[in-house]
Amino acid sequence: MSNPPAPARDSVLQRRLSLSDMLDVPAFAEVVKGFVELYRIGIKVFDDKGTKLADIKIGNGDFCGYVFSFPDGRSSCTGWVGRVKDGPIAPVHGARLPVLDDEPAPKGLVAAPCFTGLRYLILPIMWEGDTLGRIIFGPFLPDDMRGFPSSLTEISKNFDISKAQILVEKIRRAPESTVAKVMLHFAQLFDTLLSAGQKMFLTSQMHIEATLETNRDLEERNQRLEGMNTRLKELDRLKSAFLATVSHELRTPLTSIIGYSEMLAEGLAGPMNQEQVDYVRTIMEKGETLLKLISSILDISQIEAGKVRLSFEAYDVKDLLQSSASSVRPQAQKKGVDIEVKLPAHIERAVGDKERLRQVLVNLLANAVKFTPKGGKITASLSFSDKQPELKSAGYRIVIEDSGVGIPPDQFDKIFQSFYQVDSSSTREFGGAGLGLAIVKSFVEGHGGQVQVSSTVGQGSRFTIVLPQQPTGPVAHIAPPVQTPPEDRF
Ligand code: ADP
Repeated sequence: MSNPPAPARDSVLQRRLSLSDMLDVPAFAEVVKGFVELYRIGIKVFDDKGTKLADIKIGNGDFCGYVFSFPDGRSSCTGWVGRVKDGPIAPVHGARLPVLDDEPAPKGLVAAPCFTGLRYLILPIMWEGDTLGRIIFGPFLPDDMRGFPSSLTEISKNFDISKAQILVEKIRRAPESTVAKVMLHFAQLFDTLLSAGQKMFLTSQMHIEATLETNRDLEERNQRLEGMNTRLKELDRLKSAFLATVSHELRTPLTSIIGYSEMLAEGLAGPMNQEQVDYVRTIMEKGETLLKLISSILDISQIEAGKVRLSFEAYDVKDLLQSSASSVRPQAQKKGVDIEVKLPAHIERAVGDKERLRQVLVNLLANAVKFTPKGGKITASLSFSDKQPELKSAGYRIVIEDSGVGIPPDQFDKIFQSFYQVDSSSTREFGGAGLGLAIVKSFVEGHGGQVQVSSTVGQGSRFTIVLPQQPTGPVAHIAPPVQTPPEDRF
C-alpha cells in the first residue's frame, strides 16, 4: 500500500516572510559592501531573530581593538554591542532621537551614543506592518565630539589618550544629520531590494505550491484508482469462482441428459419411431454443444484464477494433429467441408501437455469448420524446424487454413480476448461464446509458444501456432487472457 498523500501546507501567502526569504543574502552583502566603501561608514543588518545578514566594517578596527585590549573596555564594549544589536529601537536605554537639522530621515530612526564617544544610528526594518529586523549604521565619529568622554578614559589608568586619538581619526567624521541622510538612501535602496525579492520569492513559492498541489491531486487519484483496481480484481475473482462453481454443477446433470438420450436413441429403453429418434438425437446434440460451452467457461475461469497447471509429457505431434482432425471430421462432413491434413514424412517427438494441445487444435479446427461454408476446404499442415524464427529454438509449426468467411484485420487482436466475437449480434449466424481463441492463446503461450492469425475477408483465414519442441521448464501457471471490455461483449 502506498502512503497517504501529504496533507496540504499553508500557502506562502498566509505566512509571514522573513528577510532571508526575500533577500538573496550573498548578493545583498555585496550591495552593502559597495555602499560602505562609498560612504565609509560600517553597516550591519540583522533579522528579527538576531541572525546577521550583512556586517561590513570600515575604519574602526584599530580603535575598537585598542579599547577591547583593556578588561573594562572589553566588558563595556560587549554590553554596548548587545544594546545596539538586541535592545529596543526606541529612545530608551542609552539611545535617543537623532539630531536632524530639518533633514528628512527614515521613520523609527534612533541614535545610540557609544561609551567611547563614537555613535551608531539604528533603523527598524518595517515591512507590511511587521518589524523584520534592524539596520545599524556606524560607528562614526560625530563632528560635535570634543575629546573622549570619561566613560572611555576611565576604563584603565594605562589608557593612552593620544594613541586613541590617532586611531580614532581613521573613523569617518560626520554630522549625525548627514549619516541619517545616507541612511535614508540606504533604506530606500533596501526597500526596493525587498519588494523585488518578495515578488521573486512569492512567484517561485507559488509555482512550487502549484506543483505540489498537482502532485497531491495525482497521488489522490492514484490511490482511488488503486482502490478501484483492488475491488475489480476481487470482483473478477468472485466472478471466476462463480463461473467455476456453476459450470461444475451444470456439467453433472448435463452428462446424464446426454447419456440417457444416447441410450434412448440406441433403442436401449425400447423401440422408438423415427420422429422420436430424431427428437432424442437433437436433445443429445444440443446437450453436447452446451457441455462444450460449459467446459470452455470452466477452463477460462480456471485460467483467470491462475489455477491451470500444465503437465508435460513426450508425445507424437503427427498423431495428435491427425486425431484432432478426425474428431471434427464428422461435423465437417455434415457441412460438406473437406479437411486435409499434411504431415511431413519424419518429425521429432515433442514435449508438452498433450490434452491441452489437443484442445487447442480441436478449437482451431472446429472454428475453421464453423466459419467455412459448404464446399469449402480446410488444410492442417505440420512442419518442424531446428530453429523456428519466432522462438529461436527447435519447434514445430501447425498451420490451419480455411476458405471461410475471413476476419477483418482490425479484429485480429480482439478475437483472442475472452467473450469476444466478430459478430456479436443476437441474430448472428454462428454459435459460440467467444472463449475458444482465448483458451488457445493461453495454452499455447503457457508452452512458451505463439499464435498468429492472417486472413482476407471472404476468402479465408489462417491460424498458425508455433510451439517449442521442448518447453523450457514447466510453466508455473498460465497467464489469464485479456478480457473483452463490457461494451464489446455480447
Ligand atoms: P467462438 O466461440 O465465437 O468461435 P472463438 O474465441 O473461438 O469464439 O473465436 C472468436 C471469434 O473469432 C469468432 O466469434 C469469430 O468471429 C472469429 N473467428 C475465429 N476463428 C475464425 C475462422 N476460422 N474464420 C473466421 N472467423 C473466425
